[in-house]
Amino acid sequence: MQLFVGIVSTRGSAAFRNARTLSQVSRRFYSSDKRAETIGFIGLGQMGFHMANNLIRKSGAPLVIHDANSGALSKFTALNSDRSVEIAKSPVEVAEKASVIITMLPASPHVKEVYLGPNGVLKGLKKGSLVLDSSTIDASVAQEVAKRVGEAGSVALDTPVSGGVPGAEAGTLTFMCGGSNEQDFERAKKVLVNMGKNIVYCGSSGNGQVAKICNNMLLGISMMGVSETMNLGVKLGMDPKLLASILNTSTGRCWSSEVYNPCPGIVPTAPSSKEYDGGFGISLMAKDMGLAINAANDSKTPVLLGGLAHQVYHQVMKTTGYERKDFSIVYKWLNEKN
Ligand code: NAD
Repeated sequence: MQLFVGIVSTRGSAAFRNARTLSQVSRRFYSSDKRAETIGFIGLGQMGFHMANNLIRKSGAPLVIHDANSGALSKFTALNSDRSVEIAKSPVEVAEKASVIITMLPASPHVKEVYLGPNGVLKGLKKGSLVLDSSTIDASVAQEVAKRVGEAGSVALDTPVSGGVPGAEAGTLTFMCGGSNEQDFERAKKVLVNMGKNIVYCGSSGNGQVAKICNNMLLGISMMGVSETMNLGVKLGMDPKLLASILNTSTGRCWSSEVYNPCPGIVPTAPSSKEYDGGFGISLMAKDMGLAINAANDSKTPVLLGGLAHQVYHQVMKTTGYERKDFSIVYKWLNEKN
């Protein structure tokens, strides 16, 4: 997909002059009277790196990138040396140079700092810009950012993802989008389609985050359930492969039992069969479940299993050596308690 805007708002700017000299790809776009819209990307971590990589390759748009970790930036520029990539020193510089900005940051405090902080996006945001935050954060923080961006004359959507690092790398992520209207969503979709397969409008601002934390709360609970079930069956003498095959053709079947079984040796591609390395970190699961529990408390909604599962993930995370493991390590933790 190629992004074009008819009006050149930064034609005389340093960003435009720099981008002109950077690559054959950008020269191709800049040679016509239309030009590719510059996209800013902040947060090139495990997810963001692959997302930005797909974005530049599929859209052909020039990128302005920023990350607190300079190593991530040099790795990205080295990989894309034949493309138009500029490194910005701060979020404010990204906002000055790009009219579409995507962020992929760890948690709510980082998002607040990057948008609302002293060197934040809001300090340099041009009117009419489009801001997409794909981090998993509190819905209330997403709403606050959207409000402040709206007051500055631009549009913000919360666009958290599911699909993990493999989905980010393959460009097959699901984006759950919250924003005030479908027109804004359609504008966002033209950008997000470069990084994902399913782009879903979830309703008003913050609803993307609501969809995301609800899904992850269910995943956290179902993984606990499968772990307890597999552990009990094995303890009672069942062959784990046979038990899994029965579950997966019976009513207990779910994604955690079938695709991501936590018992080692059942699904060769699952993290459990690879020492629980890779996958979705237990700290991220504990964080996402914490977001769900906070939202449940704020709205006085009972989430009994969610609360219990959250406590367990927190407990397991504190176990030495497990902090960086996949969240399905909960099975091993239970097994060790036998
Ligand atoms: P990560 O920690 O690997 O990457 C975050 C990046 O943000 C890092 O490169 C870090 O240096 C950068 N950063 C942090 N603070 C910054 C700041 N103030 N200014 C500029 N850069 C800053 O995290 P990740 O795994 O890529 O996850 C990002 C988000 O996506 C999280 O909210 C996570 O919950 C969500 N998510 C992750 C996965 C997954 O499997 N990893 C899956 C779905 C959703």
